[in-house]
Amino acid sequence: MEKKPFVTLEQIEKIAGKYPTPFHIYDEAGIRKNCENVKKAFSWNKGFREYFAVKATPNPYILRIMNDYDFGFDCSSEAELVLSDAVGADGMHIMFSSNETPAREYALAANLGAIINLDDITHIDFLEGIIGDKFPEIMSCRYNPGGVIKMSNGIMDNPGDAKFGMTEEQLFEAYRRLKEHGVKKFGIHAFIASNTVTNEYYPMLAGQLFELIVKIKDKLGIDFAFVNLSGGVGVAYRPDQTPNDIFAIGEGVRQAFEKIMVPAGMQDAAIYCEMGRFMLAPYGALVTKAVHEKHTYKEYIGVDACAANLMRPAIYGAYHHITVLGKENEPEDHKYDIVGSLCENNDKFAIDRMLPEIKKGDYLFIHDAGAHGFSMGYNYNGRLRSAELLLKENGEVQLIRRAETLNDYFATFDGTEFKDKLISE
Ligand SMILES: *Cc1c(COP(=O)(O)O)cnc(C)c1O
Repeated sequence: MEKKPFVTLEQIEKIAGKYPTPFHIYDEAGIRKNCENVKKAFSWNKGFREYFAVKATPNPYILRIMNDYDFGFDCSSEAELVLSDAVGADGMHIMFSSNETPAREYALAANLGAIINLDDITHIDFLEGIIGDKFPEIMSCRYNPGGVIKMSNGIMDNPGDAKFGMTEEQLFEAYRRLKEHGVKKFGIHAFIASNTVTNEYYPMLAGQLFELIVKIKDKLGIDFAFVNLSGGVGVAYRPDQTPNDIFAIGEGVRQAFEKIMVPAGMQDAAIYCEMGRFMLAPYGALVTKAVHEKHTYKEYIGVDACAANLMRPAIYGAYHHITVLGKENEPEDHKYDIVGSLCENNDKFAIDRMLPEIKKGDYLFIHDAGAHGFSMGYNYNGRLRSAELLLKENGEVQLIRRAETLNDYFATFDGTEFKDKLISE
């Protein structure tokens, strides 16, 4: 599918006049439309709720949009819990799907009344050491089926190699022990493949989890309040991929539910998900300006953003589509590496990419950076995090996070010895 920017060159020129590049910009209209679609696609399930994965885009102005759809928040750290609380989420709207969890984070999650999703069986005792025998009424366990999974379009993933979740045997034992601790209602959670661009993933996972909890219910006589399909629904980063159809995904999960859950008398169970990428990636972009060109053994365009602003290409070799704004209709007859300024040769947003001829001053729109984009940012080479902007439905642009300054970067040195030299008024 053709990938079109959600802003024009004229808009970006105006915005950049006020907020210099690089910046991340998010499209409120696109986010809202997608939220509505997700809600509709699962409206057959009474208790359905999306818990947006906060780590994807941890900005309260973005999270607040989700409130309008009664979505919750999936957290795995103290900062994410605090953010969710700050935008007004109550306990039932916070899912705490953490791993290797520090004690104080469990304490905070329990305090907020969040739904705690245990990553491992040993965490039952760990939790008891923190909250005593006051276990919440409702708790969840994370399952890892092990092995390798494969879908018909060739996507595969390797849950057996993943650090997350419990084996089936541990799961039975964990629920049994939680029941002894007075827990009344249960959830199950699994995340077994990432960025799946196929409508099959959720229905397949749902079928597997439904069958498993029917067995667990029969054996232990416990009640399942929800099945949490977690994240993993992908987006079409490449123009030759077919984007997921959330309605087909919802329908696939419904069919598995009708086939397995309804006959088992478990039709009241809610479907939860924790999508991050699918909710935000396409509705955010990194906008950067071409500032240098270099002709050596290859053709390079140097831009004012770098991997510190968007790390996915550098760490996973991930593809992010690039549009040269204003040149949408020009022939893509130049082969470039689009590179940032880090002293690391993996700081490349694109390698051997065919693009229209780029001139210094051109704006590049790096697509699908709305999730796991800004949030993965870091400060290597003393590079600063960019601003985040929200393009509102009415066309106005709101600064929802200012760019970092050197003062921010230097703020954490201990003592005051260098303060006069480093911190400017
Ligand atoms: C990262 C993560 C998600 C979100 O994953 P996406 O691929 O962005 O949808 C959801 N749940 C948990 C527990 C995660 O770690």
